[in-house]
Amino acid sequence: MSPDIPGEGDLWRSSWEAAVDGAVAVVDCREEIPCNPCEEACPTGAIRVGPDICAAPRFDPQACNGCGRCVALCPGMAVFLLDRREKSGFARVTVPYEMGERPVEGEEVQVVDGEGKALTGGKILKIRALGGGAPTLLVTVRVPESVALKVRGVRYRLMERDGFREVDKLPSLADYPLCRCEDVPLERVRDILRTGLKSLPSLRRASRVGLGYCQGMFCQSSLRQELAEATGREGEEIGSFRVRPPVRPVKLGFLGGGNA
Ligand code: SF4
Ligand code: SF4
Repeated sequence: MSPDIPGEGDLWRSSWEAAVDGAVAVVDCREEIPCNPCEEACPTGAIRVGPDICAAPRFDPQACNGCGRCVALCPGMAVFLLDRREKSGFARVTVPYEMGERPVEGEEVQVVDGEGKALTGGKILKIRALGGGAPTLLVTVRVPESVALKVRGVRYRLMERDGFREVDKLPSLADYPLCRCEDVPLERVRDILRTGLKSLPSLRRASRVGLGYCQGMFCQSSLRQELAEATGREGEEIGSFRVRPPVRPVKLGFLGGGNA
């Protein structure tokens, strides 16, 4: 048993210990929200949420092969990979990356914690995406072991932009938002479908389509159609989720019949 797990390491002791043999997931999901794409994405059953969808995921590091599918498909960016096999005081951490500016392997970057605070510098060793053109990149950085469990992202470059960027072409159909509330482009939904997600609830959570103001009133039929085309199933087999009225704040006076 490792005697010196840095920071909140005791929470992830089993992952920390398993990581001496190679990449393993660290699951930092504590909110007990209704969510489970990690469970469906995991090819080995290492992450399980179970029938109570609000339960925090349970994780078995012995069953984890370090594939990173859960890292790429977790909508809360609550999973990362830790790899301590180097045994040199440095570890490899793999985090999801969705910013527009694509990082470059070999570059030195700043690594940040969950609140965006800079921790230290790190070198990008590898950048990869899931098969099928999944939208989220997996960026592996080499950092001191002492901060490895705190790393939640990389800050690629401090960008200074004065003035407007030139628009050199009109957006393609794939760039148009399927979900306007959450600003999710059609192509992002198709990329997620290429990873193999098959159920409407998982697709909804992984893409965030239907989780905004309209709660699916305007986008559910398009999402179901995309799922039907990707899986060859009929609409009834796919099912549906409950559409709620658009949500917006109102004053108590309005509810009481006044005009306030
Ligand atoms: S890294 Fe792969 S095997 Fe491990 S928990 Fe995530 S999806 Fe499952
Ligand atoms: S997909 Fe991410 S946020 Fe959702 S339950 Fe799994 S770890 Fe938590």
